[in-house]
Amino acid sequence: MSKLKMHASSKWYKDGIKFECTGCGKCCTGSPGYVWLRDSEIKKIAEHLQISTKEFLRKYTRLVNGKVSLLEDKKSFDCVFLKDQKFCTIYNARPKQCKTYPFWDEVFSSEDAWMEESTRCEGINKSDGISFSEDEIQERLEDNRK
Ligand code: SF4
Ligand code: SF4
Repeated sequence: MSKLKMHASSKWYKDGIKFECTGCGKCCTGSPGYVWLRDSEIKKIAEHLQISTKEFLRKYTRLVNGKVSLLEDKKSFDCVFLKDQKFCTIYNARPKQCKTYPFWDEVFSSEDAWMEESTRCEGINKSDGISFSEDEIQERLEDNRK
């Protein structure tokens, strides 16, 4: 007879985490970074803005090592689509990278990385925030890799 073996998880987030976005907008500004775009996202945002993909690429993006990223202000590091330091002007068409934050592999790579990220995002470890179980976190991380 075969038996299913139960393994205790060794993940640092095995007891789950708390997160809830407050809409503060800080993850869209403050330090140099990249918002990478897939081809389908370029098309979607261009359609949302009702311009051609060519115009969108020229006006709002930069090429970094052959990959397309959104432009950011050189001094404030605001994303080109951030308005009044708080609002995403392409919210309904924002890229997956924005939608899935902070459920990124690098943020969950260690508890230290998570705590470090919490200094930039006030939604991380928010005491009355939404609880996410290990399985829910795993599911989000896996979906993000697709
Ligand atoms: S920094 Fe965190 S809390 Fe603020 S908008 Fe971004 S995800 Fe939301
Ligand atoms: S596209 Fe929107 S959500 Fe993403 S970084 Fe820019 S302003 Fe923020």
